[in-house]
Amino acid sequence: MAQKKSRPAVVLLSGGLDSATALALAKSQGYLLYALTFDYGQRHRAELEAAGKIADTVGVVEHRVVTLDVGWMGGSALTDNEIAVPQQPGEGIPVTYVPARNTIFLAVALAWAETLVARDIIIGINAVDYSGYPDCRPEFLEAFNALAALATRAGVDGRTIRVLAPLMDMDKAGIIRTGDRLGVDYALTLSCYNPDNAGRACGHCDSCRFRAQGFAEAKVADPTRYH
Ligand code: ZN
Repeated sequence: MAQKKSRPAVVLLSGGLDSATALALAKSQGYLLYALTFDYGQRHRAELEAAGKIADTVGVVEHRVVTLDVGWMGGSALTDNEIAVPQQPGEGIPVTYVPARNTIFLAVALAWAETLVARDIIIGINAVDYSGYPDCRPEFLEAFNALAALATRAGVDGRTIRVLAPLMDMDKAGIIRTGDRLGVDYALTLSCYNPDNAGRACGHCDSCRFRAQGFAEAKVADPTRYH
């Protein structure tokens, strides 16, 4: 992407490796960063602390942590204590899928972007590693952008707001190499679906495995803390 000096962007920040990289990329492109984190009833609070540290380190204009509890619905291993986080990759859409999560998050991001008169929303999804999640596909992004144009006053007035997913076609190693070049401190990020209370990773879940493999392939030292 070309340099976009001093334009505001809303960046979804989960506290994970991907969104930290997307935030650093946006920073390098000259955006004024408005980071948006959701306290959505996830089982692990360490994620929220990680997001706060990342936002502080990168330097954002504003970091909002929005409480939008979808945990009462259950339906995901990330929000429901009754559903175990798998230790082995399974078939089809993983149980760590949170029903309609990115649609919900992007809807809030869209409203904030319109209020800020921002044209860009940046999200760290990628289709390569997490092909099991329907709301991480390029088709989803395209459909959401069509919705954003129709659903907002900004869209009607010709100031269409778009969602950008700069990591969409990168694999984990590519994301890590990109972030490493930009100085992302991956020790602050948390990818694990099953961390302990101190935010240390399990080393066994899908997300831990993708992450460890990514560091190995990227030949970047892995700073992940394990329990
Ligand atoms: Zn894990």
